[in-house]
Amino acid sequence: MKIICIGRNYAAHARELQNPVPEEPVIFLKPASALLPPGASLRYPEFTKDLQYECEIVLQICRQGKDIPPEAAHAYFERWTVGIDFTARDLQQALKKKGLPWELAKAFDGSAAVGTFIPCNAGSGGNATFSLQQNGMEMQSGNTSDMLFSFEKTIHFASRYFTLDPGDLIFTGTPEGVGPVHPSDRLECFLDGQRLLQVAIT
Ligand code: MN
Repeated sequence: MKIICIGRNYAAHARELQNPVPEEPVIFLKPASALLPPGASLRYPEFTKDLQYECEIVLQICRQGKDIPPEAAHAYFERWTVGIDFTARDLQQALKKKGLPWELAKAFDGSAAVGTFIPCNAGSGGNATFSLQQNGMEMQSGNTSDMLFSFEKTIHFASRYFTLDPGDLIFTGTPEGVGPVHPSDRLECFLDGQRLLQVAIT
């Protein structure tokens, strides 16, 4: 199982981190060991002082595919949820500055939190709202209509490089409003008003 992540898929978030708005999807991977299943807690890693949440819609791939045309891509995911792409922001900024890969900042154990998967009946997901609460306060919310690259375009693009397999996950990018988490925080994520994910930071 692999976890494919899209960076900078919401223009306002690209701008909040002073990144250019991309012309092609920005892709990185997390290994299977990064998965934090629903209900699990995350231990604050000792190698960062700036762990941040990024609330994202997560697609679950249901069929094997390679070079998937955009018009066929809708058939490759049937379930989705909301998740958190946990990021060691201080480490990521240091790696970016050196022009190095981001994995240490993005792909560590527990960095890919996923909620309960539910049937995705929204086609391209054109108008879904999702949000994150930190200790009961809404800190981040987005709407898939603001994505730079639709689910179909992302699947088309990623499958030119990586064969997609059933069970693979795609983190589809975060809207603006990312921020720090702290030990003892309680994070909850919602998709169209339904709470699908809770993570306690320990
Ligand atoms: Mn992200």
